[in-house]
Amino acid sequence: MVFKIAVVGLGKIATDQHLPCIAKNADFKLAAGVSRNTKLDNVPCFESLGDLISSGTSIDAVALCTPPSVRLAMARQALDAGYHVLIEKPPTPTLGEMFAMIDYAKIKGRVLYAAWHSRYNQAVDEAKRRLAVKRVSKMKITWREDVKRWHPGQEWIWEPGGFGVFDPGINALSIVTKILPEPIFVEQATIEVPANKATPIAAQIRFKRGDGAKADLSADFDWRQKGEQTWEIGIAATDGMVLNLKKGGSILEVGGKLIMEAPLEEYEMIYARFAELLQSGKSDTDVTPLQLVCDCFMLGRPVTTAEFS
Ligand code: NAP
Repeated sequence: MVFKIAVVGLGKIATDQHLPCIAKNADFKLAAGVSRNTKLDNVPCFESLGDLISSGTSIDAVALCTPPSVRLAMARQALDAGYHVLIEKPPTPTLGEMFAMIDYAKIKGRVLYAAWHSRYNQAVDEAKRRLAVKRVSKMKITWREDVKRWHPGQEWIWEPGGFGVFDPGINALSIVTKILPEPIFVEQATIEVPANKATPIAAQIRFKRGDGAKADLSADFDWRQKGEQTWEIGIAATDGMVLNLKKGGSILEVGGKLIMEAPLEEYEMIYARFAELLQSGKSDTDVTPLQLVCDCFMLGRPVTTAEFS
C-alpha cells in the first residue's frame, strides 16, 4: 500500500528533508501541503490542518514539521480525522503533552511516530553494538554550533517551549540514550539564558549513573560557536575502549582509528521506519531524550548572560 501523506509546516526541515525523502520513498505519496505562507507545486495546499481535513482530501498520515509548542493540538486534530502522525523532534514542550499525545493516539487506534533523526545513522548503531556489554566510565558530549547559521530568522526557538540550545542538544541526548548500555540521569546543570531571550544559549550538564557509582559524564551545549561546528560524543569504558562519534554521529572512531564514516541518510531512514510502523500498526514514542531535557530545566541553575541578537 502507498501511504498518502500531508506535510504540515513548510519551513526549513520540511523543505530540506521531509519533502525530498517522501519523493524518494515508494511507500509514500505526497498528497497535500499545509502552510500559512507557502504553496507547493503539483499538490493541493491548505492554510491550516482544519482546512485540509474539511476539504475531504484522502490522507493516511501527516508529518508535523511545526515547532513543538503547537504539536499536541495539531496531533489531536489529525488523529481525530483518522490520520496517522509523524512528529519532528523535540516532540512536545513538556512530558505532560507528550504522554497526552501518546494516550490519544492509542485511544484513536492510530500510529504515532516521534522521530529522533540523529539516531538514524549506521555509525550510531555500530557504537551501540560496541557498547552493549561495556561499563561506561566517561562520556563527554560537545555540541557547539552557530545558531545564526542553523536557525536563521527563527524566533520560536527563543520563546518558552522553543528549547533554545536544547533544540540541537536533544539530538545528542537522543544518540546517547540509544547507545549507552545503562540509563543516565541529570545530576546538575548550568543553563545560560541571554538577558533578552526566554530560552538558553548554552548549557553545561553533569549526569550520573543510577547506582551511585563514580562516572565522569557531561555535556557542553553552546549556540555561540563560530567557524567549525562541533557535534561530538566521546565515551570511555572501564576496559579501556575509547569510542568517539563525530559529525553528529556519522563518523565512528574507536581507539583513535576510523571505523565507519556513514553517509547522512537520517530522514531516508525515518521514512523507511515510518512505513514499517504504518504497515505493522505500531507506534514508536520514546520520551527519554525529552525527559533528560526536562530534568535539566528542573535541576539546572539559570545564569543570565549577555543580550544576543
Ligand atoms: P521553521 O523553519 O521555523 O519551520 C517551522 C514551520 O512551522 C514554519 O515555517 C511555519 O510554517 C510552521 N509554524 C510555525 N509556527 C507555527 C504555528 N504557531 N502554527 C502553525 N504553524 C506554525 O523550523 P524548522 O527548522 O523547520 O524546525 C521545525 C522542527 O523541526 C523543530 O522541532 C526542529 O527542532 C526540527 N528540526 C529542524 C532541523 C533544522 O535543520 N532546521 C533539523 C531537524 C529537526 P508555515 O509558515 O508553512 O505555516
